[in-house]
Amino acid sequence: MLTSAEIRQQFLDFFRSKGHEIVPSAPIVVKNDPTLLFTNAGMNQFKDYFLGNKKPPYTRVADTQKCLRVSGKHNDLEEVGVDTYHHTMFEMLGNWSFGDYFKAEAIAWSWELLTEVYKLDKSRLYVTVFEGDAKENLPPSKIALDAWKKIVAEEHILFGNKKDNFWEMGDTGPCGPCSEIHVDMRSDEERALIPGKELVNKDHPQVIEIWNNVFIQYNRKKDGSLEPLPSRHVDTGMGFERLVRVIQNKKSNYDTDVFTGTIAATEAITGKKYDYSDSKEAVAFRVIADHIRAIAFTIADGQLPSNTGAGYVIRRILRRAVRYYFSYLDYKQPLLFRLLPVIGKQFEHVFPELEKQLDFVSKVVKEEEDAFLKTLDKGLKRIDDIIAQSVNKTINGRAAFELFDTYGFPADLTRLIAAEQQMDIDEEGFKAEMQQQKDRSRAATAIDTEDWVVLDEFALNEFVGYDSLEIQTKVTKYRKV
Ligand code: ATP
Ligand code: MG
Ligand code: MG
Ligand code: MG
Repeated sequence: MLTSAEIRQQFLDFFRSKGHEIVPSAPIVVKNDPTLLFTNAGMNQFKDYFLGNKKPPYTRVADTQKCLRVSGKHNDLEEVGVDTYHHTMFEMLGNWSFGDYFKAEAIAWSWELLTEVYKLDKSRLYVTVFEGDAKENLPPSKIALDAWKKIVAEEHILFGNKKDNFWEMGDTGPCGPCSEIHVDMRSDEERALIPGKELVNKDHPQVIEIWNNVFIQYNRKKDGSLEPLPSRHVDTGMGFERLVRVIQNKKSNYDTDVFTGTIAATEAITGKKYDYSDSKEAVAFRVIADHIRAIAFTIADGQLPSNTGAGYVIRRILRRAVRYYFSYLDYKQPLLFRLLPVIGKQFEHVFPELEKQLDFVSKVVKEEEDAFLKTLDKGLKRIDDIIAQSVNKTINGRAAFELFDTYGFPADLTRLIAAEQQMDIDEEGFKAEMQQQKDRSRAATAIDTEDWVVLDEFALNEFVGYDSLEIQTKVTKYRKV
């Protein structure tokens, strides 16, 4: 069986053999872009090439990019650990053409890599193309369908709408149709009953998206119309952990060697066994294995946990992980920092920044864990009281705010605990309390909305309040006026 390290290497070697320069991952923490807190896609670091603001040093590049999807447009946090294929931090394998090759090559190479190098079973693969491809009014995009028809049986090609198959960076700017590859991992019996085609893009845990090929060929203008770009680009992203799972033929990303080391270490520390189920205990193992990576690599890239902005996002992830081991693995001491050496070693040759700063990162994580563990027990008791006293199935805004302010419970943690008791939190009331505190402290404001947003757009926008998922990060939402 190929190891995850070999799988990553084969991806990079393949694209090197097709004339691509292999470049390093950009930091997961975005420092000088007011519209983005964390890298959430491989293409973020190249956006100036697409916009024509900078000339790329190479026209073909490939890499593996550290990504984090816990805020803004892409927020997968609530799925993580509950499902088996959405992570907070993940590696996005990508290849790019900046005005060089286009659809035919990108499509042929993605198929060659998956079926000839990785030897995936073709009968399990489905590809999607933008439905506009079939119409005559988008002539260049027609090529995607034609390119696929040459290599894939027609019953494995699906048409998708704008939501699934047309990628846009924001309201304006470079954009284009995309073509995705999905894998059906179900048993032959299940496949005989329901064709995989019917389950693509339906959140089936065994029929998952692995690769998105975006063809950047238009500029969306302010009036909503599309104008063809002078150059056409390719922007692809493949979820590394999902690819490894498919190649290693596992039921879950967590059963691959990307995660088994961390899970084994957690078992050794806690004395519990991971049983692959949907129990709270098993979710806790997955949450820990996932979250520790996000925490480790963001701190290694220079973002310390704090009470605002990107720092608060990290603190929130860390506290979610602590709550899971505290409540479901019955472990009451700092645990996460003890997993860091396993991850440092595992990624020594891919992202060496962690191994190099292991002592520092460990110290930061342990201090965070210590501090939160001190109030967690009290906070959990307080939440029990609050729940016992609630007349309806709602935790009122003031109580939710008290948990946040006094006990350090991020709202999504309170929401999570409430949901376990089939309760909600009063989001409006919580927002109002938060707003009052904000008015008091005039806290700094950060913006994290789309993959990125053209800045001059904001001049026209009106402040409409806080995004409930992003309250603690002081993220503001704008609406066009
Ligand atoms: P999904 O529909 O599964 O949420 P997506 O359409 O949001 O994925 P893209 O934005 O197209 O994902 O990103 C490209 C690839 O990155 C996906 O095909 C998938 O393999 C991977 N990916 C996306 N989100 C995650 C995540 N949270 N964890 C792991 N891999 C991911
Ligand atoms: Mg998604
Ligand atoms: Mg998708
Ligand atoms: Mg996608």
